Order: sequence, then C-alpha cells, then structure tokens
Amino acid sequence: MIKKLCYGVLALLLLAVVGGAGAWFVNGQRWQEEYAAYRKTGAPVLMYHAVGEEEGVEWPASLLMKPALFESHLRYLKEQGYTIVTVETLAHRLEKGESVDKYVALSFDDGYKNNHGVVLPLLKKYDAKGSFFVINKEMGDKLHMNEAEIKEMIAAGMELGSHTYSHGPLGKIDTKYLVWELDTSRYWLKKKFDGYIVRTLAYPNGSYNPTVVAAAKKYGFYRALTGHVGLNTAATYAAAPMEMYRVTVADDGNGLEGFKKRLEQAYFFGFLQTKGLDVNIIRDIFIH
Ligand SMILES: [Zn+2]
Repeated sequence: MIKKLCYGVLALLLLAVVGGAGAWFVNGQRWQEEYAAYRKTGAPVLMYHAVGEEEGVEWPASLLMKPALFESHLRYLKEQGYTIVTVETLAHRLEKGESVDKYVALSFDDGYKNNHGVVLPLLKKYDAKGSFFVINKEMGDKLHMNEAEIKEMIAAGMELGSHTYSHGPLGKIDTKYLVWELDTSRYWLKKKFDGYIVRTLAYPNGSYNPTVVAAAKKYGFYRALTGHVGLNTAATYAAAPMEMYRVTVADDGNGLEGFKKRLEQAYFFGFLQTKGLDVNIIRDIFIH
C-alpha cells in the first residue's frame, strides 16, 4: 500500500516536472521570439563620465575609464552594426516613429576635460556622436571642459546638455533652488554658446520627483535622463520623456564582456518592464 502510494507520488512528481518543463519550453520559446522582436523596438542610452589616463586625481572607479576600454566599446558597437547617436537624435527618431533598431545613444555626465581631449577624437574615428552634460559652476576649472572646448564639441555635432547649475540632487534640494539649477543653467549656456538651445537634462545622481519633472518642463527642457535601466521605445518616450532610461557603463574589471552585459541589461530590463516587472525597484533597494 505504502509502496503503491510512493509510486503514485513519484508518478505525479514526474508529471509535474515534465509538465513544468514543457510549459517552460513553450513559454520560453515564445518569450525568446518576443524578446528578439522587442529588442528591435528601442534603444539604450549609455552613461559614461571621464575617459582618460589621469594620474594623481582621486577618481572613484565608477567615474574614470581607460581610453582603450572605451575604444573597445565603440569598436564592438560598430562591429555589431550600431548607429551611435546623441540623445536628441534618438528622441527625434522615437517621436517620428522611425526605426531605432541597432541605435544607441551615448551620454557623458559632468563635462570632464578628457571628454574633449580623449572622447571627441575617438567618437570622430568611429563616426559616432554623443551628448555631453555640463555643470555650469564647474566649467573651465582644472578637471572640466572650458568654453572653447565645448564650442569645439558643438561644432563637431555633439549635443550639449545641462547637468544643472551646481550638480544639486534635484529631488532632495529645496524647491526654491530649482529655478536656479534648471532655468539659469539653460539660460547661461544659451548666452555662452551663441544661442545654443539646450533641451536635454541629466538628473545629477539620478535624483528627481514629480515636482522636479514639472519644473524641468516649465523651464524649457524637452527630455531628461534618469539612472533607471531600461529600453527607450516610442511608447516609453511618449509616456515619459522626462524619465528616459539609461544604463551606467563603468570599468567593472570585466573588460568588454562587462560592457556587453550592461548593454544587454538595458534590453532585458526593458523587456521585463513590459511584463509588469520593474527590476529597478529591486535594484534600488540594494543600491540606496
Ligand atoms: Zn554627475
């Protein structure tokens, strides 16, 4: 009797395992196809900071990348058939419903001097463009690009964006400073750069809230970059242009393989979001 029961349980277990595997196989296959199709609908925005060989500066590892590693990213993207554009170009394509399959936008925060000395020549070499987010207050000091260098970037077809006036974490500061951080920043850049209209904002430390979003729109920004990982599709951009996704790219010690993983993360997190699962929430718990 007990033996029979055991066989019964075993049979049921076997059925469950086979059934589960079958369901996984069917769904897995379907999801794989869905994922492949989904990947073509959007583009990642990558976030970089400094790229250089600087010695004697105390760089946090997440901020400085060696030029050779950065170049390997550009080479890989080109080999994979990517078109490398500014955030503004990507946004325009999304707005117009044009294909962004195999498009990627590069963004560089803080406006470091090596963005001009190291990044610009490499972008030219690989026929790539990028968006550079400067902090008004720090422009022209030892570590940051000066006016002439930024002018050269603009002339080379790069996008100039605001990273606020003083790098204030917008979601945490007193709201009375928003006009200064956002409106004054834009106005000041326009004055300095021959009427250049800045339309893209990068939130310092990825910090923002609904009040910040409303203020940024009011002061003339069309779009803004967060630190949330995901894929920018026509749908996500239309729904929330002030909350564009982007993925941090840093030297994590894993070379090009590390980069490939981060790039894929943008697609995969985006795909999970379409399934109602925002992995950023889980990620944020561990990060903050
Ligand atoms: Zn920053």
